[in-house]
Amino acid sequence: MSDVINVAEIFGEDVFNDTVMQSRLPKKVYKDLKRMIQEGQELDLATADVIAHEMKEWAIEKGATHYTHWFQPLTGVTAEKHDSFISAPMENGKVLMNFSGKELIKGEPDASSFPSGGLRATFEARGYTAWDCTSPAFVRHDAAGATLCIPTAFCSYTGEALDQKTPLLRSMQAINEQSLRLLRLFGNTTAKKVIPSVGPEQEYFLVDAEKFMQRKDLIYTGRTLFGAMPPKGQELDDHYFGTIRQRIAGFMKNVNEELWRVGVTAKTQHNEVAPAQHELAPIYAECNVAVDHNHLVMQTLKRVACQHGMKCLLHEKPFAGVNGSGKHNNWSITTDDGKNLLDPGKTPHENLQFLLVLTCVLKAVDDHAALLRESAADPGNDHRLGANEAPPAIISVFLGEQLEDVLEQIIETGSATHSLKGGVLETGVDTLPDLVKDATDRNRTSPFAFTGNKFEFRMVGSRDSIASPNIVLNTIVAEAFSEACDVLEKADDFDKALSELITKYATEHKKIIFNGDGYSDNWVEEAEKRGLPNIKSMVEAIPALEAEKTIKVFEQFHVFTEAELRSRVEIKYENYAKVINIEAKTMIDMASKQIIPAIIKYTKTLADTVVAVKAAGVDASVQVETLTEVSVLLKEAKEALAALIKVTDEAATKEEGEEQAKFFKFTVFPAMEALRAPVDKLEMIVDKEAWPMPSYGDLMFEV
Ligand code: ADP
Ligand code: MG
Repeated sequence: MSDVINVAEIFGEDVFNDTVMQSRLPKKVYKDLKRMIQEGQELDLATADVIAHEMKEWAIEKGATHYTHWFQPLTGVTAEKHDSFISAPMENGKVLMNFSGKELIKGEPDASSFPSGGLRATFEARGYTAWDCTSPAFVRHDAAGATLCIPTAFCSYTGEALDQKTPLLRSMQAINEQSLRLLRLFGNTTAKKVIPSVGPEQEYFLVDAEKFMQRKDLIYTGRTLFGAMPPKGQELDDHYFGTIRQRIAGFMKNVNEELWRVGVTAKTQHNEVAPAQHELAPIYAECNVAVDHNHLVMQTLKRVACQHGMKCLLHEKPFAGVNGSGKHNNWSITTDDGKNLLDPGKTPHENLQFLLVLTCVLKAVDDHAALLRESAADPGNDHRLGANEAPPAIISVFLGEQLEDVLEQIIETGSATHSLKGGVLETGVDTLPDLVKDATDRNRTSPFAFTGNKFEFRMVGSRDSIASPNIVLNTIVAEAFSEACDVLEKADDFDKALSELITKYATEHKKIIFNGDGYSDNWVEEAEKRGLPNIKSMVEAIPALEAEKTIKVFEQFHVFTEAELRSRVEIKYENYAKVINIEAKTMIDMASKQIIPAIIKYTKTLADTVVAVKAAGVDASVQVETLTEVSVLLKEAKEALAALIKVTDEAATKEEGEEQAKFFKFTVFPAMEALRAPVDKLEMIVDKEAWPMPSYGDLMFEV
């Protein structure tokens, strides 16, 4: 077969990775660059010139004509501006291909049209992109040809972060410094660097492109704003892990191939719970690389879907009535010599370093629960968090039986003497092996679950960047480490102080631990008793971004200045208002121009039928009944439409920011639901031929 993929051969083929650098760069330049990557020193221009030249030569061999600084402004997606490598024509009318060190290190896109939340006046358009040399450059092939993409950070003229990458790198620096302090206390003198690792599992839906194009809601908002449930949803659980259909399999094959070429470790793929829903997970990578790669994954899913006559929906809730999509953010902290600080070992009760790390994480998550919740807030995620879908909006931590037991021993007696063991799972079949069980079962409902040697933060939305949650995790854990080190570094008796600190943290933050069913109503009540925040929506979550303790922790570790935080608050409120405004206007458009006219036409057909049936001297009560039913709902829809138009107009008069966002949330959004209700009922009655757009059934089951 000609289309067999040799993974080992193609993996990383389009990445300017270590192997390429080592083989192409002069020894000294390579060493300087490595030092810069590992130790974060600055690169001089002469060295940068050599690197840029080699990078260009390599990219041109791959067919590249352009380069771009690839950055992550506060739009939630990535941005790029392409420059070709050509220089000014020479006397002979020909051009040379040029790329200087200066162009590699620094770009200067006009920043005036990106959200800055007041950080930069429009007339101060200057923004800078700076090369993040810890995330390798790569060549991307698409309809535009081949482009050398250079991962960069994006700052304003005055140095404020206008992107997600800058604070992410700052937070990685913070957790690195504080983790090293902690490791030194435990006698580790070899580790030079500590890096958070992240593996994000990406969920998505695939629908047929032709059907997608017939739905204005999908085109403008990425989700369906109307739509009755088909006779079948996800109740049979037959899609989850089911055999992957051929059309989808072909798509996945191409996605994997493209991702492998650019060095993304696409590893796992399967069907998800909802019909037409799937998942892709890479092998975990260093935090900033994982964030970049997740953007690449999302873009690749979209691009390849189009090539297969499909559309990839990354929205958190494309369809009401079936599961939405999220992104599980698996997070751990690892030293450069490969030791995972979250690895409990076989006997966690004896592993005091682990117990300190663990209780620090508990403290961090408990102290900053609202902030962590906020980091997963986006308009689409409001349909999941706190809306009876995975996971609840209350932050709690799942530890599992074994660790909970160890912590209970510590809380009761000040130390732990044993760890529960997993035992053996007997299959009861002679020919099957008995399996050694993990010490702890899985929990699927916890928003923040310990899963063996990492924490899995499950709140993140499928469309959202994973930068924010990781910025928060890195920083709040850095704070907890720092506070612990402050105490322990001064202690006369280290062992005593350590054991007291672990006991103190475990006792004080026990309330954040919850191993039960996070979806149950009991938990909502219980959490309230424990004083845990239950923040149901994005607009209610945003204030956590400018809470006093948030400002304090971010300023202390130089991740965000207060001004940067306030700008983000503004951007988030604006973003929420804009998204709901687009949704409301799309509903108004669809209802006025497509749905109501179609129903009116349908009532005419019904009325004609009634007349004809009556004229034939037959009982027309069924026809009359249907006509009445449709007319009543039509009236309800028309009134709801008028009400939605009114409140959407009113929203435009509100002051931008919190007030407007809240108006959209608490007034416009309910008006949208009030319009949807009668329309969805009508869809169930009206002749399918007369309905102006593909149904849920068409979209989810006919891909
Ligand atoms: P699940 O059963 O929840 O799908 P997996 O073990 O398949 O969990 O892992 C899911 C994700 O977690 C993958 O992206 C994987 O690479 C990542 N992962 C595994 N170990 C770690 C770790 N130590 N740190 C961060 N991420 C990890
Ligand atoms: Mg998982």
